[in-house]
Amino acid sequence: MKDWIRPEIKALTAYHVPDASGYIKLDAMENPYSWPQDLINKWLELLGDASLNRYPDPSAKQLKAKIQTRLDLPGDSEIILGNGSDELIQLILMAVSGKDRVVMSVEPSFVMYKMIASFLDMPYVGVPLSNKHDQFEIDLELMLDKINQHQPAVIFIAYPNNPTGNLFSEPSVDKILSSTDAIVVIDEAYFAFADKSYANKLSKYENLIVMRTVSKMGLAGLRLGYMAGSKSLLDEMDKVRLPYNINILTQLSTEFALEHKSVLDQQTEQIKQDREKLAKELKMIDGVKVYPSDANFILLRLFEHDADEVFASLKEQNILIKNLSHADASLKNCLRVTVGKAEENMLFLSVFKSTLTRL
Ligand SMILES: *Cc1c(COP(=O)(O)O)cnc(C)c1O
Repeated sequence: MKDWIRPEIKALTAYHVPDASGYIKLDAMENPYSWPQDLINKWLELLGDASLNRYPDPSAKQLKAKIQTRLDLPGDSEIILGNGSDELIQLILMAVSGKDRVVMSVEPSFVMYKMIASFLDMPYVGVPLSNKHDQFEIDLELMLDKINQHQPAVIFIAYPNNPTGNLFSEPSVDKILSSTDAIVVIDEAYFAFADKSYANKLSKYENLIVMRTVSKMGLAGLRLGYMAGSKSLLDEMDKVRLPYNINILTQLSTEFALEHKSVLDQQTEQIKQDREKLAKELKMIDGVKVYPSDANFILLRLFEHDADEVFASLKEQNILIKNLSHADASLKNCLRVTVGKAEENMLFLSVFKSTLTRL
């Protein structure tokens, strides 16, 4: 057989998800909590009535309405749902794709922007974040230069950013929004843990899309992302969406979860408190820099140890975090730890400290 696989695809390495069975799992920004048993029982009862023999509502009207009200999106914005926000990134790029359509983001940031651009054979430009004061802030001047130079079709800005955890300066993001005719996607995957959102600016900028996911707020297994934007833009993008992309179990379960959102809110509040506790403890360790976080993870840099060795040693001791040391030049010797349950955080801390002492 002729080798039909595109050379750009062959040159990629597949997105690697490590097998985490048996580990204390602090690598993937998951909410560590399950639901109280009585809530689980009610949910199972609801699922028992689901018509698995029928196609689901193709536009998931009820779920969209619930998302709009319970997750504070403006009533006049249009919503599209995706099989995770990863699918929405793909959908946005499919709708604008072309060999001359530049996709832009900052770096380091979420890797799927670049990966999906390359799946679709679109040029990608990553603009380095400024490392002034070691802060991972947008270098506005450079960003505006690059926008001018490349005239991007789409700009992705993760807000808070993954893997750095911070919210970028709002005036900088506003300036980007107002000085480009690109579609600007503000990716608020961690909105539940941050106090800021661009949802209230949707009516101000016609090129703004606010994209979110329920994954990081406690429903990663359901695979549901959503994005809000102007009707004229999203109506076009919706044509690219596969008709039944949100299955009936996800539709019913997410609606149910949003009806009981106070349970998720309590978990989020707990995670935010535990994030502050964990950060405080980590800051007391010599040779470790702790970056500020508005998300459910913390970025660390080691000054006296090799991140590869520390990561490997933690893994040997059954604790899985994320090694970012080779993800970007600016992340040398960096590790990312997801905030877990209090006892998981404590265990991580004590193993981390003893590992640093030993190595
Ligand atoms: C996790 C993450 C996503 C993907 O979320 P899914 O809905 O689970 O696909 C998107 N953007 C950022 C910045 C993330 O960290």
